[in-house]
Amino acid sequence: MSAVVKIMTDSAFQQCLNADCRATFGVDQTLFACPDCGDLLDVSYDWDRLPIPRRALFGSMRVDRSDPLNFSGVWRFRELLPFAPPESIVTIGEGQTLLRGSDRVGSYIGLNAGGLLLQYEGLNPSGSFKDNGMTAAFTHARIVGARRVACASTGNTSAALAVFCSATSFGFRAIIFIGTGKIAYGKLAQALDHGALTVQIVGDFDDAMARVRDVTDRLGVYLMNSVNPFRLEGQKTIMYRILEAMNGRIPDWIVVPGGNLGNSSAFGKAFLELKQLDLIDRIPRLAVINAAGARTLDELFNERGLRWNDGRPEMSLASDYYAELDAAGKKASTIASAIEINRPVNLKKCLRALDVMDGTARSVSDQEILDAKACVGAGGLGCEPASAASVAGAKRLREEGIISPDETVVCVLTGHQLKDPTATVAYHAGDQELFDSVLGSRGVRRAGFANRPVVVANQIDDIIRAIALYGEPES
Ligand SMILES: *Cc1c(COP(=O)(O)O)cnc(C)c1O
Ligand SMILES: [Zn+2]
Repeated sequence: MSAVVKIMTDSAFQQCLNADCRATFGVDQTLFACPDCGDLLDVSYDWDRLPIPRRALFGSMRVDRSDPLNFSGVWRFRELLPFAPPESIVTIGEGQTLLRGSDRVGSYIGLNAGGLLLQYEGLNPSGSFKDNGMTAAFTHARIVGARRVACASTGNTSAALAVFCSATSFGFRAIIFIGTGKIAYGKLAQALDHGALTVQIVGDFDDAMARVRDVTDRLGVYLMNSVNPFRLEGQKTIMYRILEAMNGRIPDWIVVPGGNLGNSSAFGKAFLELKQLDLIDRIPRLAVINAAGARTLDELFNERGLRWNDGRPEMSLASDYYAELDAAGKKASTIASAIEINRPVNLKKCLRALDVMDGTARSVSDQEILDAKACVGAGGLGCEPASAASVAGAKRLREEGIISPDETVVCVLTGHQLKDPTATVAYHAGDQELFDSVLGSRGVRRAGFANRPVVVANQIDDIIRAIALYGEPES
């Protein structure tokens, strides 16, 4: 082992989140919960023993893009997730994403010109932000010598898992567990096309999740669900890229959809560490947006007063709520399938993020989500329904006066438009039957921003008339 490698493996460790436990474990161990108390684990660093990351990280310091680690939008910040020796890093060119202003979407939210920036994570190789986490978790899997990697997901986690296995040559085999429920075809298509072993359990997502945990225990298969703390290390870099693109300016707000709450947790950890390392002067506020049909965080944070409480959150508030949901037979239900989750596994870490970033939570209806999604599309970036919750949530917070018109807001667009074309076509196409079957059952009543196809006879005069009527250039 070279000296550098030795420092890395000694100075990074896994640590239990539970304030009354705080047990530590090596990064060479494969654990998905604290063996002592069962709580979540963090990847932690002994920063004093590591090369000091410099403010220049957020400038365009790393220009040699022929080096895969500098090309990666995750690993060009490797000093800020220093758990892996550089030669063990697994990268497929993730994180080439974009921060783009959109005044059209900004005015929909109610912000002044220049106030809205969209962080478009749909540009990742698998089309969602999940790749940021996968590169880190695959790196850890390689360090511990894992070959079979598994997750339960009907969506973007499995797509990312399949892409990483097929794009690398370290002998990884993807195993994906899905339930028999509805699956967004864009995402299932990716799992199948990229050659993942796709195991369809007769049961729902929760059954699939329970079985994947059994299998990882029994067969020593490496678990890639977001209880894996290494994934969150990679997802921190979404925040670094925003700071980099803003050239040192700090936004007032980061707004992100919340499902299993891994992303929001990672953002909080990113800013906590940047502040500890004295690399920034100010921390933006965080807004985590649930769907109304899966609003656990909104309910627990706003209605029941659940807080981080210096590391001792009253988690019985959550278990009571889950018991109520079960008693009422309530299941998560939203068109935004990526956030259709009632028991977010990273809840406790998200509470820490809300504490660090003076954050808040809201939930928005499927109607608000789809209207926001259409505005995002018209503003130049296509996203899937879950992603548009960030824009709908920012609009809500603006209307409440929590966000003011002159603030700078970054909404994270988590996944690509083509992940779930069914929802998009049902919204726009003007086909009442399709609208009713896909959206009506979810309480969506109108497509206020629909861009309907214009039906014309196969006659040149009719076509010219239609273009004259509907095809005016924008003023
Ligand atoms: C996974 C996912 C989410 C939810 O992220 P969490 O980290 O689970 O809160 C939101 N949007 C998209 C597109 C996703 O794939
Ligand atoms: Zn513990």
